[in-house]
Amino acid sequence: MATVNTVTGSISTDDLGITLPHEHILYGYPGWEGDQTIAPLDRETIVRNGVDTLTQLKNDFGLQSYVDATALDGSRMPEICKEVSEKSGVNIICSTGYYYEGEGSPIYWKLRGSLGDISEELYELFMTEVTVGIRDTGIKAGVIKVGSSKGEITDYEKLMFQTAARVQKETGVPIITHTQEGTMGPEQAALLIEAGADPKRVQIGHMSDNTDLAYQEATFQQGAYVSWDRMGLQGLVGCPMDEQRYPVMIELIKKGYANQLMISHDFIITWLGRPLNIPEEAMPLIANWHPTHLFQNIIPALKAGGVTDEQIDTIVRDNPRRLFAGE
Ligand SMILES: [Zn+2]
Repeated sequence: MATVNTVTGSISTDDLGITLPHEHILYGYPGWEGDQTIAPLDRETIVRNGVDTLTQLKNDFGLQSYVDATALDGSRMPEICKEVSEKSGVNIICSTGYYYEGEGSPIYWKLRGSLGDISEELYELFMTEVTVGIRDTGIKAGVIKVGSSKGEITDYEKLMFQTAARVQKETGVPIITHTQEGTMGPEQAALLIEAGADPKRVQIGHMSDNTDLAYQEATFQQGAYVSWDRMGLQGLVGCPMDEQRYPVMIELIKKGYANQLMISHDFIITWLGRPLNIPEEAMPLIANWHPTHLFQNIIPALKAGGVTDEQIDTIVRDNPRRLFAGE
């Protein structure tokens, strides 16, 4: 039986059900910790927000599983994810791994790397978090998150990708990625495959940030899952509008790629640190940036474009299961 590590323990991949493959329970950019005198960690609020959001998704839309793509340098908090999962009844899968160099926290590893080869140290960390547990929580990571920069995969990032591939080869754990501003999707897939990863256990992320068909197909054709996981996030951080995205998604499905397509939002339920000051003009652009968007707007838009119920079911239920099963 194929299994997946959730924050409450191992379950059969058959029990994942409808899954959002790239979201966040919480997120804190490196440095937020230093602002805690003003904006302290409020565990109760994070849990309440998480439980409210996941309970709504479960009750209204049948959501059963939620992948928390928060890497080690985004303030991942597996114990909080566990409490949210227990109280909402939605499976949560948490990550090991590191974000892309520009917005991650690479100094610790860069210093160590300047003194010698750190590939064994990273391997030990990822491997332990996947097979033994995170710190003393007993919670195992269910995916490895890695990312690359705009227009390049830096040496620091390459090391993360190669280490992730090595851990996957030994454990089968899926690798999920961050691409920056619609670049390097095909290159990420190629790098992971070259390093020994199984493309059927790879999810190339933020592919919704580039509506060029050739870019899309160059990624799909390598056999990886292609994740359109910034839906609802429009006109910011290099994202196109959903209205530009829908025709491309529909075209890809018509070309036969439904069995490799994932949809999610990269939504952050609770930001750590002070609230973001999002300019008033930008608010309408992100009005639908919420994990209900898939069910309320995206699925109807795809259906209006001729996508069948069976294809929708493949995307929201079967593809996540097969990513974790390596099918
Ligand atoms: Zn994310």
